[in-house]
Amino acid sequence: MACAARIRDDVAPRIAAFTERHGRPPGLGVVLAGQNPASEVYVRNKIKTVAGAGCRAELFRLDQSAPVEEALALVRRLNADEAFDAILVQSPLPEGMGKDAEQRIFDAVDPAKDVDGFHPFNVGLLVQKRPALVACTPLGCIELLEREGIAMKGRHAVVIGRSDIVGKPMAMLLLHRDCTVTICHSRTAGLPEIARSADILVAAIGRPGFVTRDFVKPGATVIDVGINTLTDEADVTRLFAAGSKKRAAFAEKGSVLVGDVHPDVEEIAGAVTPVPGGVGPLTVAMVLRNTVTAAELRATRKAAM
Ligand code: NAD
Repeated sequence: MACAARIRDDVAPRIAAFTERHGRPPGLGVVLAGQNPASEVYVRNKIKTVAGAGCRAELFRLDQSAPVEEALALVRRLNADEAFDAILVQSPLPEGMGKDAEQRIFDAVDPAKDVDGFHPFNVGLLVQKRPALVACTPLGCIELLEREGIAMKGRHAVVIGRSDIVGKPMAMLLLHRDCTVTICHSRTAGLPEIARSADILVAAIGRPGFVTRDFVKPGATVIDVGINTLTDEADVTRLFAAGSKKRAAFAEKGSVLVGDVHPDVEEIAGAVTPVPGGVGPLTVAMVLRNTVTAAELRATRKAAM
């Protein structure tokens, strides 16, 4: 996608300057536990992009059966390793690690190396409008809106989804750009009507084709964060017209990736981000940018000590 490529280009001189100044490139350590096929793809893309831009990017694998203590010990080791400026723990973690594993592990990452912006310290800074490291997916969405010149000040933004990693930080970033923000979720009453009043509609739900044209004001900007894999032919037939590319892709592979936004929305919206190829590549570009930002912030802090 053009926007993600431009972000990667913009960050290139910062990587070169850091490397020259410190005698090593910015470093990202990625922790992957288990064998979730989608996580394998995400992690491969992130490492390829970060390493391809001239940073160091290293993968640390843990077995599907690894206890949470092993993941915590690995995070602590990366926290202490000066070669790594940024740490990413790929979600979801194996269920065997326990219900609170994700929270415990995200909390254990040094906030200065928290490339995903999930640590409560970084969440607090975001809420107070002095962001340092911000969650990559919502940051990528905002970058897209800004680079495409979509007006935000005084506009109504509706975010569907209230997760800590997408919905909430997305709402906060829009608020800080002077949008009037409504956050909707699974218990929201009258959702289509609220969504229809949005100038900017962000769908981060995890339900294929959930946002239909009756959710969308004509001309609205629609950002589709959802990534859903369809494996049932009936779902594909319901969502996509005969002869469409998605049907052809399904016929070839037996599965197809779709967003939370129904394809018909394209006919009414001003713009809709595609899935795949929309928010996904932007998220990866932000992992790269946050890695570089973390490296620069750490170097500045060290110099001030
Ligand atoms: P989540 O399951 O943590 O949160 C989903 C949210 O949707 C919840 O807050 C819930 O209240 C809301 N929701 C569920 N059903 C609803 C309904 N019927 N009506 C209204 N709201 C409803 O998911 P998440 O981690 O925020 O991810 C959301 C989607 O975005 C998923 O498809 C995920 O795969 C995708 N995602 C994509 C990227 C990317 O890089 N493109 C990154 C992260 C997540």
